Amino acid sequence: TITRDECSSVHAVEIASLHKRFGDQVALQSLDLTVNTGEFLVLLGPSGCGKTTTMRSIAGLEEPTDGTIKIDGEVVYAGHGRVNVPPAARRVGMVFQSYAIWPHRTVAQNIGFPLKMQKVPRKEARERVEQALELVGLDGLGGRSASMLSGGQMQRVALARSFVMQPRVLLLDEPLSNLDAKLRERLRLELKETQQRLGTTSIYVTHDQGEALALADRIVLMRKGVIEQVSTPLDLYQSPSTQFAAEFIGTNNLFTGTVTRTVEGTAQVDIPGLPEPLFSGYHGPMGAVAVSVRAEDVIVDPPETWSGTTLQGELSVVSLLGSQISYVVRLGDAQLQVLLPFTGELRRRGDRCRIGIPSHAVRCFTTGGPA
Ligand code: ATP
Repeated sequence: TITRDECSSVHAVEIASLHKRFGDQVALQSLDLTVNTGEFLVLLGPSGCGKTTTMRSIAGLEEPTDGTIKIDGEVVYAGHGRVNVPPAARRVGMVFQSYAIWPHRTVAQNIGFPLKMQKVPRKEARERVEQALELVGLDGLGGRSASMLSGGQMQRVALARSFVMQPRVLLLDEPLSNLDAKLRERLRLELKETQQRLGTTSIYVTHDQGEALALADRIVLMRKGVIEQVSTPLDLYQSPSTQFAAEFIGTNNLFTGTVTRTVEGTAQVDIPGLPEPLFSGYHGPMGAVAVSVRAEDVIVDPPETWSGTTLQGELSVVSLLGSQISYVVRLGDAQLQVLLPFTGELRRRGDRCRIGIPSHAVRCFTTGGPA
């Protein structure tokens, strides 16, 4: 006999050439994606880029137009009119923005519902529900009516209900977006911690870059039904491969400029309105480029020993964001946003300062992509 371990694949989900059209509207265009077992994968992208359609296709709630989907090595979809395993038999868990909690049942009944459907013996079901309650920090609340719960508690019930099924893959579609910012951040950390502890392969949809960076092992950045970049959070943040990726990730100042000189992988780039050229690592041709300058990499009043590009500026907007300060600095005829960690000192609007722009803060993109 073959044990589950022997036949389980390193790829919990494999998607190949997935297409989905809604009438004339192309939602997914030849999508290829693999999710490793135990991985936390985040699908990130603007509204309408196809994130939910991808999730619903994996769950079996949406029939793709073409392509193949495997879960744990098992083909669950293989093109129209061929294999199409029904949702319940795919053994995936789902948590969506609306939590679908039955208010007239108790917390334990809500969480135990999938086990009842699967005819799991009552004693085992009770134990698994208890474990799930503990997992999401709701121990002792099993007997409470679900109508008595706060939004955050309801979302925990929804999470517990999906974990209790021990799904092969857990699909989470903006599960925290109905919650206020503070609670969202807390539940996000708890979710990540629980996922790591259980090793549940998870796919998480969000259009919030901060959430993606905080949660993901890998981020899949989508745009108009295609994958733009697949990277670890750090790589996507530090080395966005396209202008779209740079705009979507991080806090970037965007300019159009001209590369006027290149020497050994470094470009001199002129930006209209800026009194001095900037420098950037670059391997592309001379001429027009899009330029991003990352706000958090800019230095205010660099030390005397600093030898990079330095510009004279004046603060035109000062905002305290909490743990960070945002300054908008007027530099010649251009403006630049700067983000600094807040250390107790706040400058004033109208203050003059020197602005250091290191070359790693500057990225140039030709229209064809990274350079
Ligand atoms: P959001 O973040 O707004 O949920 P998304 O990235 O999840 O967006 P999808 O919901 O997958 O995007 O939609 C992808 C494209 O397919 C969009 O252009 C959308 O209008 C279209 N679409 C999705 N569902 C349907 C449907 N049932 N009928 C027609 N068009 C649809």
